[in-house]
Amino acid sequence: MLISIAEARELVLAESRPLPADQVRLADALGRVLAEDVSAGEDLPPFDSSAMDGFALVAGPAAELPIVGESRAGHPAERVLEAGEAIRISTGAALPSGADAVVPVERVEATDGHVTVPDTRAGANVRRAGEDMRAGEPVIAAGTELGPGELGVLAALGRAQVRVGAMPRVAVLVTGDELVEPGQPLEPGQIRNSNGYAVAAQAARAGARVLPARIVRDDRTATEAALAEALAQADVVCVSGGVSVGPHDHVKPALAALGVEERFWGVRLKPGKPTWFGARGGKLVFGLPGNPVSAMVTFHLFARPALRRLAGADPDDARTRAVADVALARSPDRDQVVRCRLTLREDGWHVEPTKAQGSHVLSSMLDAQAFALVAAGEGAIAAGERVDIELLR
Ligand code: AMP
Ligand code: MG
Repeated sequence: MLISIAEARELVLAESRPLPADQVRLADALGRVLAEDVSAGEDLPPFDSSAMDGFALVAGPAAELPIVGESRAGHPAERVLEAGEAIRISTGAALPSGADAVVPVERVEATDGHVTVPDTRAGANVRRAGEDMRAGEPVIAAGTELGPGELGVLAALGRAQVRVGAMPRVAVLVTGDELVEPGQPLEPGQIRNSNGYAVAAQAARAGARVLPARIVRDDRTATEAALAEALAQADVVCVSGGVSVGPHDHVKPALAALGVEERFWGVRLKPGKPTWFGARGGKLVFGLPGNPVSAMVTFHLFARPALRRLAGADPDDARTRAVADVALARSPDRDQVVRCRLTLREDGWHVEPTKAQGSHVLSSMLDAQAFALVAAGEGAIAAGERVDIELLR
């Protein structure tokens, strides 16, 4: 019995729980998923400071004031300022105690030891302590992917380390006697192993730590040994090919012998129907179809959400909708995944197929920035209609 994409995803997510979080140095946190709610531990800025190069003073009418000191960035003035005095101040330097305003240097006339200032309002050109973030205020929520902005904020708040979701370890196995690595000569009947590279790259993009991909021969003993090792080393095993019921397909019986319990086999999907998923003690195994496009489609639809969930990230972040720029034919009995170019216009995302869409036409992945999900049914999605899509980057 074939199940729907949504049902298959649900079965996958039901087995996928966040791995124990890691503590990492801030410099190693780019791209990781925050595993704690971060509140400001201190005020930012930490003290009242000047927004301009100029003179700190007590606000009041225009006047000529004696310059009685200096406050530079990192070197606060030593003296308390009295009304009727000015202290030279640099951008970011602490506002001297007693002062409540700053006049920018462009608006004054300074002579030896004195400065003539215009009429000034209290608070002018002063950055208040805590104006950006206040101590105790929630700032970044758990589940956020840490980008340059988040790292900057965490550093500004004094966080040297953060708790982040673990990077799941992924083992990629590719099965097939016909497979040859790039760089090796191609004998009659052989093809290049492309899944090992494409799927490993997808796993890396999904935030996983990917173990070196391995070719496994179409042999029951070799298949079981390779899967046993992968299960010992990784949180998630992706194995491509060999998952059908031909005499040379050894993946399913090998997984059964290793105690990996089947959760589904076969999705109402094109390409990607012969997809297998099972679990053993919190470890996940994806049996991806050997066809290169099917392997990439099913990895994206099923393995990627699992890896995101294991890392503590939102598994459904890639789903949105787009306008189909050309008609997309439906298949009567299977949901289709169409490799599409993506453009952003005034009314949102638009998609159009990259090229011929056979499951063996790997070049249909070139320039594909999205998968359009064309639900099974009669007729077609007309040009101009909206369709569900999955963003690929
Ligand atoms: P299978 O599921 O093992 O029957 O494989 C289905 C198709 O995918 C066959 O044409 C295989 O040659 C091809 N295939 C399997 N594994 C790979 C791979 N790693 N790279 C490229 N093509 C593959
Ligand atoms: Mg095969």
